[in-house]
Amino acid sequence: MRIGFVGAGKVGFTLGRYMKERSLCVSGYYSRSHDHALQASQFTHTECFAALEELTKSSDVIFLTVPDGAIAGVWHSLTEFDLKDKVICHCSGALSSSVFSEIDRTGASGYSIHPLFAVSDKNSSYREISNAYFTIEGSEKHMPLIEGIMKTLGNPYRIIPADHKTLYHAAAVFASNLVVGLYEQAMQLMVECGFDRESAGKALAPMFLNNCQSVVENGTDMALTGPVERNDLTTVKKHLSILPRAQREVYLQLSQALIQIAKRKHPDRDYSELSTVLEYEKGLEKKNEKNSF
Ligand code: NDP
Repeated sequence: MRIGFVGAGKVGFTLGRYMKERSLCVSGYYSRSHDHALQASQFTHTECFAALEELTKSSDVIFLTVPDGAIAGVWHSLTEFDLKDKVICHCSGALSSSVFSEIDRTGASGYSIHPLFAVSDKNSSYREISNAYFTIEGSEKHMPLIEGIMKTLGNPYRIIPADHKTLYHAAAVFASNLVVGLYEQAMQLMVECGFDRESAGKALAPMFLNNCQSVVENGTDMALTGPVERNDLTTVKKHLSILPRAQREVYLQLSQALIQIAKRKHPDRDYSELSTVLEYEKGLEKKNEKNSF
């Protein structure tokens, strides 16, 4: 079984090299830029294809590691060739295999295979991807083959239904990108307190890293600390009285989510007053929003 890649970017480089090192047979690369395809083929000691049709002929499994917005277009180009019994995959977290429109007519089978991992560097990420969790979704026909690839790689994986794909991707955004947004809010508030960005980063880093580790190792219930968990209404009110609008909204929304965790952790505590205050403040927020239009 030969695996080819269309798209010599971060994920193409990383998966190709990772598969090669796990003794899977990688045929090579085709990309928009011939230079990039050549670099990827050198990086993985595989072939560089000058035409999409050549890569298609030489590969049983084809990974479209192109940006999400380009997957449908590349798929359309592929349909000009003989795709009987080919296995077509993409790596998007947000799109399902349904992006391969009318794939049944071509005799091929389609899959989305998503690593829950930030592939940030095309030259080094292959060293770190072995712990990444993968989700797979697609046709039943060649699922055993896809599972065989995953088992050879040794990564944990799970098959999910296509109609969960968007929700699943939103979950990934919560755990990664939105955390970046939250961290940025903290940085901005520190800067308002007189820190520069560098010293703010230094000050927040140990707490942030410890907290992430604790969430992962102990779960959200055990990791939760702070005024909401302590049912400290006075401190929450003080925060709300000084926070700028943008941060206030986020604070209110997330504090409500924290109450749910705190209740689970301390079923003996009564968080109803705190809950009412947050609800009331959110109402005020909405009213102010309407009045400002
Ligand atoms: P990159 O932008 O790093 O790479 C995309 C590559 O696709 C580029 O090399 C580009 O061309 C090539 N390309 C673009 N359009 C075409 C086309 N029409 N025909 C042929 N090649 C084309 O993207 P990523 O590697 O980051 O992402 C690829 C996929 O992986 C996406 O679906 C993304 O959602 C998914 N993914 C990304 C993760 C990440 O952290 N980066 C994590 C998990 C999934 P060239 O360089 O030749 O000009």
